[in-house]
Amino acid sequence: MKELSVGKEVLSYCNKDKHALAHIIVSMKDEMTIGKVQCKTCNTTQAYKDPSKVKERRQTKKSTLGKSKTSKLSNADLWMEAVNNSKAKSQAYSVKTKYILGDIVDHPTFGPGVIDKLIDQDKIQVIFRHDIKTLMHNK
Ligand SMILES: [Zn+2]
Repeated sequence: MKELSVGKEVLSYCNKDKHALAHIIVSMKDEMTIGKVQCKTCNTTQAYKDPSKVKERRQTKKSTLGKSKTSKLSNADLWMEAVNNSKAKSQAYSVKTKYILGDIVDHPTFGPGVIDKLIDQDKIQVIFRHDIKTLMHNK
């Protein structure tokens, strides 16, 4: 087993360099536990961090980040979901047509969109791929 003591070199995660780097042990908590280390790269004295543990934590952080990403949907995701959930047939957008929730309109400028909300007698909220728009209908 590698002996740990003050003055010995150890691989530790540097908070400043954001990397596992060679550090010199500055202090020990006990015979087996490293207290503080000094980075050979940036000379910062900091608490010893096991690089393998840092990596693990990073990966779990990444995966939870991925999860939060899916829970916070982008407009394109919302649009995709709305299109997939709608059973309506796509129809050309016209201000004269009266739309209902879930209808799919094909807008000359914004492309296909799904009626997301009936705001008013003559106003609808439509999700398009890149934007959410308020449009007229039932005129
Ligand atoms: Zn450093």
